[in-house]
Amino acid sequence: MMTSFSIRRFLTFYTLACLLLGCLYPVFAQESRPNIIFIFSDDHAYQAIGAYGNKIAKTPNIDRLAREGAILTNNLVTNSICGPSRATLLTGKYSHMNGYRNNDRTRFDTTQTLFSKELRKSGYQTAWVGKMHLNSLPAGFDYWNVLPDQGFYYNPQFISQPNDTTKYTGYVSDLITKFSTDFIEKRDISKPFFLIVGHKATHREWMPDLQDLGAYDHINFPLPATFYDDYKGREAALKQDMSIDKTMRLKLDLKVGVDYDKDYLYKRLNPEQRKVFKGYYDKITKDYEDQKRTGKALVEWKYQRYMKDYLATANSLDRNIGKLLDYLDQKGLAKNTVVIYASDQGFYLGEHGWFDKRFIYEESLKTPFVIRYPGVVKPGTKVSDLIANIDWAPTILNIARAKIPSDIQGKSFLPLLKSPREAKVPWRKEAYYHYYEFPEPHHVHPHFGVRTSRYKLAYFYGGISSWELYDLETDPTEISNIYGKAGTATITADLRKKLESLMVQYKDEEAIKIFTAAKK
Ligand code: CA
Repeated sequence: MMTSFSIRRFLTFYTLACLLLGCLYPVFAQESRPNIIFIFSDDHAYQAIGAYGNKIAKTPNIDRLAREGAILTNNLVTNSICGPSRATLLTGKYSHMNGYRNNDRTRFDTTQTLFSKELRKSGYQTAWVGKMHLNSLPAGFDYWNVLPDQGFYYNPQFISQPNDTTKYTGYVSDLITKFSTDFIEKRDISKPFFLIVGHKATHREWMPDLQDLGAYDHINFPLPATFYDDYKGREAALKQDMSIDKTMRLKLDLKVGVDYDKDYLYKRLNPEQRKVFKGYYDKITKDYEDQKRTGKALVEWKYQRYMKDYLATANSLDRNIGKLLDYLDQKGLAKNTVVIYASDQGFYLGEHGWFDKRFIYEESLKTPFVIRYPGVVKPGTKVSDLIANIDWAPTILNIARAKIPSDIQGKSFLPLLKSPREAKVPWRKEAYYHYYEFPEPHHVHPHFGVRTSRYKLAYFYGGISSWELYDLETDPTEISNIYGKAGTATITADLRKKLESLMVQYKDEEAIKIFTAAKK
């Protein structure tokens, strides 16, 4: 039994210990919060990734993340282009709420609520390296070293703090990894960190690293089933300007007949780079000139060249993800670091005869997203619920145990990552989409729509007035617009109601007006 003396002594010791630990507690608490790395590529299609079913593309490191963590099979974007996707990442909001609707020269309003600012407030050290493409400097970041605008694949400039531009020799994906690990090396180790690794790859004009030139030349890529789509019953699809046949440029995109002294993308190469790069593409140019292909032979040749360059460019992206994962292993950081890999939106790899993105159709609506969260997300987890990119910001804040601002429109999907579907975590059953950029650069009419697990209803406007309805179960490639067809009245009415209520929920007043005026 304790005497009153020993009780007093114990209490004094206890009080002292509590005071001491009390002072130390916030440090412990912060250290236990995970670091978060968000690897964010550009235009990297889910169809181009092994973990998503591609049997040809070599993506061992993205596949590794998927295997060691979770893969999202229905991660949709809210507006399928580059800048708006980044604005949505930062704000957790639709384009009409964060003000960034198009890839034009609009300056992103950094005074609004950004999740990076919330992370900082909660004690995270934050950094952005690589592509940002928002016509503004990073806000809510302690450190940055970013590409101006689109950046270049070879010998790119970077803007570092406070606003200094430096040109580096080398390949962009390697430099981005180097600057990312430089940040991690020099970080304040008393805080957890959040780092965006913004890759330029695999954005047009698909310039592979020298070591990857020809990596897929032995492959004859199978044509997608919809390669020769006639766009019947789909007015906007008929009027687009993003086809491999008509829009893809022989010189700037496919490097046929490049003038290495004049063409701005290619005159950047230094003499050593030029020798290897030109050596490879001179053979392609010669083949193009010798064969004099026309018609289908020519468009199929362009498709093959496109796929070879696109996947070869992705090789460096994946290799650099591997370098970063190895670095985390070597430094003992892997266990307490969440690693996310996502693209800013999906992309067409010849489906409907296209490259580029923009449309509400599956290939550009869906984007790859894998996440490794050791000790929390079970390896091999698959989430097929309808996630949207407005959910990324609140999920990251949730992982960081930081406050989620009430005006964020998305919702944390961390519970879905933790629980199998049988746990019945309530989740959205329909997702809302709204695209704006028209007519330049690819003449894709603005449109909005709703996607459920089975159906998609969309309305195209801006000089046309065109409804489209797809049953993804019977028509997964979306070539049969069944809007107005017999037997679709009930589902159309239901989807229309859902679409309208989503517009109200997300406060898209402009869309409500267009929807109301639209021909029924
Ligand atoms: Ca993009």
